Amino acid sequence: MLKPVYRGGIWLPELGLWMDPHKRKPFAVISHAHGDHVARHECFLATPETIALIRVRNGNAFADRGVALPFGEVYQGKGYRIQLYPAGHVLGSAMVHLTTEGGETFLYTGDFKTRVGLSAEAIQIPQANTLVMETTFGKPNYVFPPFESTCEQVHAFCDRALSVGKTPVLLAYSLGKAQEVLKLVEARSQPIMVHRTIQELNQVYRYFGIDLPTTRPLDFLNMRDCIVVMPPAVLKKLPRKNCSIAMVSGWGIDDSAKYRYGVDEVIPLSDHADYPDLLQFVDTVGAEEIYTTHGWEREFAATLRQKAYSAWSLSKDDQMELMF
Ligand SMILES: [Zn+2]
Repeated sequence: MLKPVYRGGIWLPELGLWMDPHKRKPFAVISHAHGDHVARHECFLATPETIALIRVRNGNAFADRGVALPFGEVYQGKGYRIQLYPAGHVLGSAMVHLTTEGGETFLYTGDFKTRVGLSAEAIQIPQANTLVMETTFGKPNYVFPPFESTCEQVHAFCDRALSVGKTPVLLAYSLGKAQEVLKLVEARSQPIMVHRTIQELNQVYRYFGIDLPTTRPLDFLNMRDCIVVMPPAVLKKLPRKNCSIAMVSGWGIDDSAKYRYGVDEVIPLSDHADYPDLLQFVDTVGAEEIYTTHGWEREFAATLRQKAYSAWSLSKDDQMELMF
């Protein structure tokens, strides 16, 4: 069986293959364009959507080193084949499925969600002998409310703010979350203002067929009667007077999140799978060996072992713990 190792990214020593390493490598697979999965490799494999997003965020020189592998097509490596499957996380996000010459299969999820979002490809889950999965929300208290009630929460937040003459400001990460929030508010009558970083990425979404509403550039002096969508990093520049602020994040189901973010409300819309989704995902893949990474990786691996799976966290030392 392939034995993945965590070395600031997923490393498969048997195949000499890196996935999402944080440091520059001669060659690596990049699962999606979020910054914590991207480093300036000499050459990288990614979906065409991810390469286009990287072009906007990281520049032409780096994007030109990308080898595009569309979903469903095969990349032939030395002793293995790679196919990318939609991970449902953000536009172009991919799960990496490997088949060795001996017929063994391996799946690395990157970040994923099983809920069908409004601005990302629907997830497709292949089967594999070995699974490396992200477990950001791998504890039982992380159960997101139904999508419909989250949509209602977004509209109720906007209505409440506007009814008292305040501007509703929705804080959402520029890549992925912002585009889903834009889809949520597109039918509303108010003009929508977005931060420049979101506007730039929206062009890529539109190019790949995701229809997004028309927006105006963010202008702090003329926000009245508008809905504002901007990344959390801009919050410190926002003149808070006459604004009502909501953070859009899966962490919103923690009661303390509102105070932690310093906002009026937190709306629990996530780009990641919640705890029940993670369990369901494990069932669907049907792997014999499971490795967890990110977030509650030790806890989720322990949960899986209680359910008789062979599961270990990849970057923590629970494997050692059980040996002594
Ligand atoms: Zn991500």
